[in-house]
Amino acid sequence: MEKIVALCKRRGFIFQNSEIYGGQNGFWDYGPLGTELKRNVRDCWYRDMVSGHNELVAPKTAPAKYQMVGVETALIMNPQVWKCSGHYDLFHDMMVDCRESKSRFRLDQIRCRWVSFKDATVKQDDTGTELSKVMVTSTAEDFHEDMTSEALRVFGQKKKYADKLQWDGAATTLDKVDVSEFATVVAPGASKAGTLTAPREFNLMMKTIIGALGTDDDAAYLRPETAQGIFVNFKNVVDSSRVKLPFGICQVGKSFRNEITPRNFTFRSREFEQMEIEFFCRPDESAGWYKYWRDTRFQWYQDLGVSKDRLLLRDHHADELAHYSVGTADIEYAFPFLDAGEYGELEGVAHRGDFDLRSHMEGKLTKNAAGELEVELNEDGKPKHRGSGKDLTYFDDQAKERFLPHVIEPSAGADRATLAFICEAYHEDQQPDENGVLQERLVMKFHPRLAPVKAAVFPLIKKEGMPEKAAEIFGALKAAGLSCQFDQQGAIGRRYRRQDEIGTPYCITVDGDTLTDGTVTIRDRDSLQQDRIPADRIVEEVLSRLNS
Ligand code: ATP
Repeated sequence: MEKIVALCKRRGFIFQNSEIYGGQNGFWDYGPLGTELKRNVRDCWYRDMVSGHNELVAPKTAPAKYQMVGVETALIMNPQVWKCSGHYDLFHDMMVDCRESKSRFRLDQIRCRWVSFKDATVKQDDTGTELSKVMVTSTAEDFHEDMTSEALRVFGQKKKYADKLQWDGAATTLDKVDVSEFATVVAPGASKAGTLTAPREFNLMMKTIIGALGTDDDAAYLRPETAQGIFVNFKNVVDSSRVKLPFGICQVGKSFRNEITPRNFTFRSREFEQMEIEFFCRPDESAGWYKYWRDTRFQWYQDLGVSKDRLLLRDHHADELAHYSVGTADIEYAFPFLDAGEYGELEGVAHRGDFDLRSHMEGKLTKNAAGELEVELNEDGKPKHRGSGKDLTYFDDQAKERFLPHVIEPSAGADRATLAFICEAYHEDQQPDENGVLQERLVMKFHPRLAPVKAAVFPLIKKEGMPEKAAEIFGALKAAGLSCQFDQQGAIGRRYRRQDEIGTPYCITVDGDTLTDGTVTIRDRDSLQQDRIPADRIVEEVLSRLNS
């Protein structure tokens, strides 16, 4: 992962935000190549899911034909939206503070494990009691190694005695540990046990103030997901665009979450971009559509080059499901910053029933004792958070029925997908140079649709009319809308390596033969095969290779 992060900075994919001022934790900037790459990720998603979808024909795996439309809604919405959606009351993580280091952690992100060391003890906070067995903790990626050094540190032992540590049970996360045992927990980096506070709820929505008065009544939230902008516009879309069930409304845009511990490069950021579909269908057809979207979205990552070996389609256990969800599956990727066998979420596909439309119609819902959703009431019997009161039902004019549609929600993160495509593309191999000597090669094997630069054009030497001919070809590729680079610096092998490092699929070289027979070479990044083709066919050739 370190190599990938270094490459991202060196070649201008991703930069630390506000770097010259020391950065801003949880925020990232995309450089010139990263901007192209992420734009391609968004464009592929929008094209494959929305603009390129043929509503007249049912895809082979779909239960029926369907329509897809897009919306673009504001980042800030009426605060009542978040009260009815449940985000205001329920969108939180559990966090703990360390009284000694003044650091704050997300409970489920602290790994911990019981350990003792023969005859050695650790001091417990406040009481000063000596403990012979403690729970050491780590927030590092390589937590096994980190916990060993933590354990040696707290027991005051040298590295060479690592094998004398007595571990008890497997490593777990602190949210699985009962609070009554916190007195024996040594917080990450703390000198003694018992410095953690009791866990507290922390709402992840970012607050802002609208208007000049700046009172609490003017408080609003930056949206933590793009989905609610779709639900509150459901009626507008139905009334204005003549869509009929089943259909999807899609949105790509920024979301904000005040993550307690942003980490793992762009994987967990405080500002990120989502690509969401809310797919509306008849309740009795929703199970088939849930399966369709689960499989379709899983296939999408593979079609763009992610190996199935590193992807996982994981169905949530019943106890993991949100209170409204009938079923949820996560699409996960084996990111290199995770332990072997661990996966990180790229996308969630959730069957949400009629929860969202009903909440915005009637008010915030909660489950009653019988497990049914009903409007949550205050002690005075009034709704805790009042809905819009607007009729958000749908009239099915064929079945002559009025009902609330059910919703399947494939919700993907553009930054996480971009990061997975970067990790997946990263390859190191060895290739012979001009003299046949094997050289290390770093090559980003992006799918051609995702590659930030589609082609590079090189004049072999800077004379004999080659730069002019190469510039002509470069201009023709640009005019076709292809992102290209022109490079006439250094030996040709070095130019190839520079392009391999950013994942350019095709390199075109103008040489002596070009000037006599009008042909150029086109070199394929992965097969390294070079073909000679007429220069005036190059745009056609690159376009056909990109689309094949
Ligand atoms: P996690 O469990 O990792 O916090 P989540 O289940 O809360 O994610 P969702 O609310 O389902 O995530 O959001 C949908 C998608 O948005 C995620 O699958 C992910 O790709 C993206 N996403 C969510 N939170 C972040 C974040 N903090 N940084 C980057 N992407 C995110």
